[in-house]
Parts: sequence; C-alpha cells; structure tokens
Amino acid sequence: MEFKNTLTFAREQDAQDPLARYRDAFHFPKVNGKDVIYFTGNSLGLQPKRTKEYVDEVMEDWAQMAVEGHFQAEKPWWDYHERLAAPLAKVVGAKTKEISVMNTLTVNLHLLMVSFYRPTAKRFKIICEEKAFPSDQYMLQSQARFHGLNPEECIVEVKKRPGEHHWHTQDFLDKIAEVGEELALVLIGGVNYYNGQVLDMARITEAGKAAGAFVGWDLAHAVGNVALELNQWKVDFAAWCSYKYMNSGPGNASGIYVNEQYLDRTDLPRFEGWWGTRKETRFLMRPEFEPMPNADAWQLSNAPILSVAPYLASLSLFEEVGMPALIKKRDKLVAYLEFILREVDKEVSTSFEIITPKERGCQLSVFLHGEGKSLFHFLMQNGVITDWREPNVIRLAPAPFYCSFEDMFRFGTILKQGILEH
Ligand SMILES: *Cc1c(COP(=O)(O)O)cnc(C)c1O
Repeated sequence: MEFKNTLTFAREQDAQDPLARYRDAFHFPKVNGKDVIYFTGNSLGLQPKRTKEYVDEVMEDWAQMAVEGHFQAEKPWWDYHERLAAPLAKVVGAKTKEISVMNTLTVNLHLLMVSFYRPTAKRFKIICEEKAFPSDQYMLQSQARFHGLNPEECIVEVKKRPGEHHWHTQDFLDKIAEVGEELALVLIGGVNYYNGQVLDMARITEAGKAAGAFVGWDLAHAVGNVALELNQWKVDFAAWCSYKYMNSGPGNASGIYVNEQYLDRTDLPRFEGWWGTRKETRFLMRPEFEPMPNADAWQLSNAPILSVAPYLASLSLFEEVGMPALIKKRDKLVAYLEFILREVDKEVSTSFEIITPKERGCQLSVFLHGEGKSLFHFLMQNGVITDWREPNVIRLAPAPFYCSFEDMFRFGTILKQGILEH
C-alpha cells in the first residue's frame, strides 16, 4: 500500500480501522491537556477502562462477604483464576488445560525450571540468546549454581553475527547441534525485548526437542503481540507477564503453559502447594498431594485475586477482538510508523537505523545516530512517551489496541521538530 505523510491520509486510515473504537476503551495519560502518543505498551500497557469494574467487584465482595467471598461471590475467589485459562489459551495457541495464571514471570520461570531443568553429569547445558533480559540471565545463572554447577560451563549463548543487530535462526540450530547430547534445556525470549525480533519459535523448538532437550520460551514480549501456536509447536513450557501488551497492570499475575504430555506425569519434579491439589478434595486438608489434572498443578498459593482480576478484564477485550485482527492492524500500523521514520530521516541530518529485522511484531527499535537523551526529553515534554536505551536507541511499540495512524503522523512531526530545534 502507498503511504502518505499527511494528516488527511492518517485520519483516513483511522476511519477505515475496524479497531479504532477500542482506543476509547483505554485510559490515556495526558500532557498539556492532550492524550499522549504512547509507544511503551511493550513495557506497561494502558489501563482498560473496564478494569476498574473488575477490581471494584472484588473490593465490594470482600467488604460485603469477607471470607464467604471465596465461595459465595459471583465470581468466587477459590477458582477465579480458572476463568482466565480458556481466553488465554486462544491468545497463545494452547489447550485450556495447558494454561494457568499465577505468581509473576521470573517466579514462574524458576518454578518451571524446577520441572524442566534437571541436569545430569552428561546433559546439563542451557542454550539462551546473548544479552537476554537481565532477569532471565540471573535466573539461569542462579539455577545452575543451585544445581552445584558453574554457570559459565552451563550457559551457552547464541550470539549475533559481528556488525549485525539481529539473530539468524540457523545460528540457533547450529548451536543446538553443536551442544548435542550435552543439551538439557533451550530457554529463550520468543520476541527479543531490545531489538523487537520475533524468533522462529517453531523451528528452534523442533531442533531443541530433536536433540533430546526440553524447550521453553519466555513470552514476555510475545504474548498479545504475535501469533503463537505453543501446542502445535510442541513447546514444553512457557511463561509470560501480563502487564506489557496484555494490559493487566503493573506487576500483575503471570501466565504459564505446560504441554499436555506432562500433565499426568508423576515422575516430573515440581515445587508444590495446596492450590495445586485437586480442588474437589483440597479442603479436606489431607496430607497427600493429588495434582490438578491441568497446568494448575503448578499453583502453590491461593490466587492473588486483586492481581488476577485486572488480567481477566483485559482478556475480555482480547476475547472480543481476537489476535488475528490485532495482528492485521499491527502490521499496517508498524509499516506506517516505519514509513514516517524514513520520511523524517530524509528531512534531517540525523540518520535513523532501524535495528528490528523484518521478523517483527509491534516494536521498532531505532538507532538515532548523533542524537542524545535530550531528544528523548523533548519527545516526553511534547506528549510522546517512548523508551530510551543508552547510548541512543529508541524503542517504539505502537500497540494496535489503542494507537492510531494519526498518532504515527503526529509523532513524525514532533520528532522532526525535536531534531531540528532542540
Ligand atoms: C519484562 C520481562 C521480564 C520481567 O520479569 P518480571 O518477573 O515480570 O519482573 C522478564 N523477562 C523478559 C524477557 C521480559 O521482557
């Protein structure tokens, strides 16, 4: 499609956008009395207006019923989290029984590693991507040490090629082949937080499993952003946070996926708690652990309802819209943003280098050669919220749920002004 760098063109695209009306379903922060242009939905998604209702309902039930709310509330708390599994299964391409919602992301990855990282003298290595998100690096290192191993001998990073900003699938496959029988686990971020690259999760999973390893994915930047088929790809396990593209609010509950083949396995080690036992007999308070027949077996504690309720609110929006429609708009919106960046690039002396490869979701990461943090502050003061990484990479993630084509056009104008004037 032929794009134009004009307000009229941008507004025409918004007028034709079937998701345009969802913009009004979210709260926007304001700068100088105007809605911000929000590019950080990859960090913390905006608050859906309906979330307050869901939270208020829990607050009200707690006030009116206190402990009785566990069973008497309209959405009883004891199995509240089960309401999230079916809509979430659609978002990640899984079966409902393979999904649970609990804890937070790093906690869940640790818990899943208890089950899926079981190093032996021969098979003990972990493949991950170079410069993984720091929490993931700390997690892998501390897991290695927990097993009495030296992280430097266990953790094998797949690097980018010299001078390049993205990974090649082949380099993951080659590394898997090279580590071979020593490979215990592949655990990688499905969409890289820094360059926005979407990895070929299907092929990497297939190769890791063929090498005899378990394969798990950290889907923090993937969920609610890209098409996922976890069950079809035969991924062993995955976890994600819900506050980025899934708009569930700061630090709120995380989701996990465990492939169905492990749900009735009694030989798999797992850290267990009472919320993982069969709910039919849970309150008999018996000493034997009888696992739930689904991914809820990994649950430990009774669910933090005030953290889960906003996630349920957000999932109701995903249910209405569906990933295919979000992805369709995402592709056009990101392509328009790329076009706008290239137009601005022609008019200023700063050179823009988009380091996100063509395998991308919502995010464009851009090197602004010759610019510094003062540009970021200029954007902020003019109502554009972006994410700046030293030395001069700006991450732009226009979430299709609430960002408009007009936002992209207005951003271009402000960016150009910032480069020329600040
Ligand atoms: C955002 C993010 C995290 C954050 O972890 P929390 O446990 O939710 O604080 C971890 N890993 C990746 C890859 C992320 O993008």
